[in-house]
Amino acid sequence: MALAGYPIGLRLRFYDHAADAPAAQVAECTVGNFDDQEALRRFAERLDVVTYEFENVPAPAAHDLAARVPCFLPPPQALEVAQDRLAQKSFFKALGVPTPAFLPVNSIDDLQRGLESTGFPAILKTRRWGYDGKGQAIVRKAEEVTDAWNTLKGSMVILESFVQFERELSLIAARGRKGETAFYPLTENHHRNGILRWSIAPANDVSTDLQQLAESYARKVFSALNYAGVLTIEFFMAKGELLANEMATRVHNSGHWTIEGAATSQFENHLRAVCGFPLGSTEACGCSAMVNFIGTVPDPAAVLQMAGVHLHLYGKQPRPGRKLGHATLCASRSEDLADPLQALQKLASG
Ligand code: AMP
Repeated sequence: MALAGYPIGLRLRFYDHAADAPAAQVAECTVGNFDDQEALRRFAERLDVVTYEFENVPAPAAHDLAARVPCFLPPPQALEVAQDRLAQKSFFKALGVPTPAFLPVNSIDDLQRGLESTGFPAILKTRRWGYDGKGQAIVRKAEEVTDAWNTLKGSMVILESFVQFERELSLIAARGRKGETAFYPLTENHHRNGILRWSIAPANDVSTDLQQLAESYARKVFSALNYAGVLTIEFFMAKGELLANEMATRVHNSGHWTIEGAATSQFENHLRAVCGFPLGSTEACGCSAMVNFIGTVPDPAAVLQMAGVHLHLYGKQPRPGRKLGHATLCASRSEDLADPLQALQKLASG
């Protein structure tokens, strides 16, 4: 976000609980927890706009900041909906956006009853604080019910039917302050253990109808929330239909390819949107493949010797399962990406 903001004339200040936050390498950073009133006050001083790229900003901190600065976007209400999987799925349902079958679960009896309607397999997820596959348990058969419940009990949970999807797609959408919209072409995403491993964009074999269907769902979300900024909706494609799995009221990992693979990156468009600037073109420039570096980072020189590669290392301390960087390959034809993508995946897996 910092790297996208400076060239368009913005001055940026970041807020993070850790002094070694990636953004602190390139921009002013206020360090504090989200309940640190004094640090939040210092952070907000003289800011025109506050935005976020982390969905777990506690609602009280969001409301506190929104009251201190002229503009806080996307609206705190959008953040609150996105923070709770039950609120989010109920919101989609109310808007007529299809989702996997879901129901709240508060006890093992609820879970047993819920499984009668979802059937097996099903997936149990914590309503809050879950990301990158954390806080989830798949229930494949009756014998696994108690274990799944014991893993997640103590948190508020939601039960979902397990979708046998053909593929996963995400839509990165932007809406400006005056209500103008722009949509990137759908991205195809590949997860393992709940973590995004790699993406291809534009996704192959996407009809105009499918793209427009996804956009129509994003428009509904935009209007209902009086939204400004980038919004991501992750879909399962099953039997040719789109089921909304999740939305993020922020820039998204599956949109990292837009840095080099689109006319305007998701980061620049997010900043344009929240600052009231015109949105930039979301057109893809050829085809892109993005690979995440998770837990370990490959030798930069080995990555950089690949033709058409763009390397991004975030400067984070390595930890198992942590996203530490990514690389994007760009080519004019998708078939030219297959071999280098395989080579890059090999490097990424160490
Ligand atoms: P989430 O945290 O909800 O984005 O889930 C992470 C990943 O787990 C998804 O991208 C899917 O690959 C898988 N997953 C989550 N929910 C379901 C579901 N209801 N059916 C099938 N796979 C799922």
